[in-house]
Amino acid sequence: MQIVSYKIQQFSFKLKHSYRFADAIYRDRPINIIALKDDLGNVGLGEVEAFEFPNYIDETQRQCVFSITSRIMPLLGSKAYDTPFEFARFINSTNAPYMARAAVEMAIWDLFAKRNGVSVQKLMMLAVGDNSATKSAVNVGVAIGIKDSASDVIKSIQTELDQGYTRIKLKVNRNYTVKMLTEIRTKFPDILMMIDCNSQFHLRDKSFFQNIDGLDFAMIEQPLGKKDFIDHAKLQAQINTPICLDENIFNSEDVWKVINRHSAGFINMKLARVGGIANALALSALAVNHGLQVWCGGMLETGIGRAYNLALASLDYYRFPGDISASDRYYQQDIIKSEFEIKNGKIAVPQSIGLGVELNDHAQKKFAELDWIKI
Ligand SMILES: [Mg+2]
Repeated sequence: MQIVSYKIQQFSFKLKHSYRFADAIYRDRPINIIALKDDLGNVGLGEVEAFEFPNYIDETQRQCVFSITSRIMPLLGSKAYDTPFEFARFINSTNAPYMARAAVEMAIWDLFAKRNGVSVQKLMMLAVGDNSATKSAVNVGVAIGIKDSASDVIKSIQTELDQGYTRIKLKVNRNYTVKMLTEIRTKFPDILMMIDCNSQFHLRDKSFFQNIDGLDFAMIEQPLGKKDFIDHAKLQAQINTPICLDENIFNSEDVWKVINRHSAGFINMKLARVGGIANALALSALAVNHGLQVWCGGMLETGIGRAYNLALASLDYYRFPGDISASDRYYQQDIIKSEFEIKNGKIAVPQSIGLGVELNDHAQKKFAELDWIKI
């Protein structure tokens, strides 16, 4: 397969409710969607999932778009590859930001699926040697941003449970106390619940984690530093609740650190953060084969990124419900037709050929304003 041209269109979304995590508050979410055209005229879609500012990892929308247009696409030139893995090897060799690589690589998988007459989900399954029947839906959970009080959090949890979500993740910062978390947990003792600290704590805060160790959280996500594996291992040795790592997992070297140092029991896998689907599949296999568990994280995606996440989360490696919410959770309107809905705690995995979602009229019109850029 050869890529002959591409387009990148920026969409700007107003979030329904401002989203607070760690020390950041987001009210708008710019996302660039990339469309690649192959030599047969098929079009594949991917999205840049970096945030506007480098609050989560050290990558931004603008920086990723610049890398795609100035580095990945020109270097790709007229090269042809026979498998998505060959493309992935090329894209990784550009050393572009992970989320720039992932955006291009997603579209490559969409194209390969279309050329082979299968869904992206099926293509991922075949890539990992899984010939079983495809799953039509996956269990999903939701992340609740930081609130000012336990009662605000409790209200939000109830709203999400009423929507049908069966797993709740609480974003937590240093203002959250043991008392507050105990109050929340006591209100919903049987709900599958976890917390995500987005690297807001230090090892010297270990008593906080020891004091919430009995609250039966499924895991504590990224309590300590974004580059740390050693202090996480020290903390993990002193609490029973499994630690999950997110911000510091980019490549196999990082997964090996978790395995060798016993820094965590879970890895939050995000296609975008690890540079795409091929990398996510390889890292999932590595982690699971060494006793870790993986689950699919979220980045306030559009329906495009969400469709890739659903396919990934349907793989056998993924047993714990992912951060994959319905289309209407964050935005008034998505950019795809037939938006994703939650039913009995599950969201359906697109089954039709390719990614299985189509841009809606508004998005198609925006894309039509741009000319295809030949590479
Ligand atoms: Mg996280």
